[in-house]
Amino acid sequence: MTDFDYDLFVIGAGSGGVRAARIASGHGARVAVCEESRVGGTCVIRGCVPKKLLSYAAHFSEDFEDAEGYGWALGSKTFSWPKLIQAKHQEIARLEGIYQRLLANAGVDLFEGRGVLLDAHRVRIGDQEVSAEKILIATGGRPWAPDFPGVEHTISSDEAFELEDLPPRVVVYGGGYIACEFAGIFNGLGSQVCQVYRGDEVLRGFDHDVRRVVTREMTEKGIDFRFSATIAAVEKQADGLLVTLASGETMQVDCVMLATGREPYSKGLGLEAAGVQVADDGSIPVDGFARTNVPHIFAVGDITNRIQLTPVALQEGHAFADTQFGGLSRETDHFCVPSAVFSNPQVGTVGVSEEEAAQHYGPVDIYRSEFRPMKHTLSGRQEKALMKLIVERTGQRVVGLHVVGPDAPEIVQGFAVAIKWGLRKDQFDATIGVHPTAAEELVTLRQTVSN
Ligand code: NDP
Repeated sequence: MTDFDYDLFVIGAGSGGVRAARIASGHGARVAVCEESRVGGTCVIRGCVPKKLLSYAAHFSEDFEDAEGYGWALGSKTFSWPKLIQAKHQEIARLEGIYQRLLANAGVDLFEGRGVLLDAHRVRIGDQEVSAEKILIATGGRPWAPDFPGVEHTISSDEAFELEDLPPRVVVYGGGYIACEFAGIFNGLGSQVCQVYRGDEVLRGFDHDVRRVVTREMTEKGIDFRFSATIAAVEKQADGLLVTLASGETMQVDCVMLATGREPYSKGLGLEAAGVQVADDGSIPVDGFARTNVPHIFAVGDITNRIQLTPVALQEGHAFADTQFGGLSRETDHFCVPSAVFSNPQVGTVGVSEEEAAQHYGPVDIYRSEFRPMKHTLSGRQEKALMKLIVERTGQRVVGLHVVGPDAPEIVQGFAVAIKWGLRKDQFDATIGVHPTAAEELVTLRQTVSN
């Protein structure tokens, strides 16, 4: 027994924190976690989960249209945002309850309130104070907003989930994951959407073909893009908001949603008091074992600003707990992490883009197919899907795989195993396709394209 109240105290009950707490407790540690908001964190409460529910809702408008090509005649359709948001609230409350029970059943004490470090072993939560041998910081990130006049009239994705009504006219600012996902959601649900982005095609950092196809298809679906554009000001008016772009163009809308990135949530945590080093971007630097510069203080998830994805935080939290309390030595492997964008169309990607491949692997062979998915033969929709393989020329390993189109994230999850573990193109070729599917393209691509 130590003199500390707990063996582990976790600040933040999001994906990484809850996983670490449960696993550590399972290894026999005395564990507590504190949370200032709701158990579940960004992913469950105001991120991945509610976003995907809204994304499902948005897709029905196209499904109804497509159904007509298959003989269905649908009557008049109406959509109720308040009903959707109410249903979403209920589901999130259910999941939050599950997370709370998971902690309780694992024997983890939950403190409701903000945790502030007093020193390397003590945390204050409201008027309570606890000590722990080890402390894990898992406070995640928060939306970041650029500064311009009237920024206080804008919202982030956090507030978008809570809007009382669907705004008829929306400006979405940014060209990344959240911007593209919400542009698709608002558009699918019937809002008029203008997406303002400083770049020339959405999803910077993704493969250029992915960016090209997503930008084209989003445009086709009615997103009104302003590229190479920034917001100069937002002014509140009697009947909405007046947005002025740096170009001088103005537009009247009902809502401006910023999706300009997220920042680590490290301010006011008492990190200085505990001597924890903080980088200029507010993140906490850690090594592969989640160790900060202070022995006994660790950090996982978005606060470390490496890969801002829930499954990464989960694995970091799990590996930390196994290493510190389970007698194992587990380092999180950040190589070849698959990811998806639930835009419309959807994107799934694993491995390197064509641009990155040139830097990391030298000469590559590119296989690419752009085609109309079978469903759209009868639906009449002109939307095209993209499948792309990037193959290292010398060893013939498939080092990048990119899909745009229906079920892209589901497809890529399966193929991610093959990419991560270095399968070669001939091993792809030797795998028989599932017919008729879109994904079979990925094992039947034979002709390289000039790159
Ligand atoms: P992203 O980094 O994906 O996108 C931020 C966007 O804001 C970029 O288009 C960027 O432009 C633009 N931007 C940044 N600074 C400025 C500025 N000063 N003025 C104008 N525009 C600016 O961040 P998100 O907020 O969309 O998402 C945060 C993270 O959350 C993602 O990186 C991802 O890891 C995670 N996430 C994952 C999801 C998923 O797995 N499906 C869903 C949602 C989020 P530029 O491209 O030029 O830099």
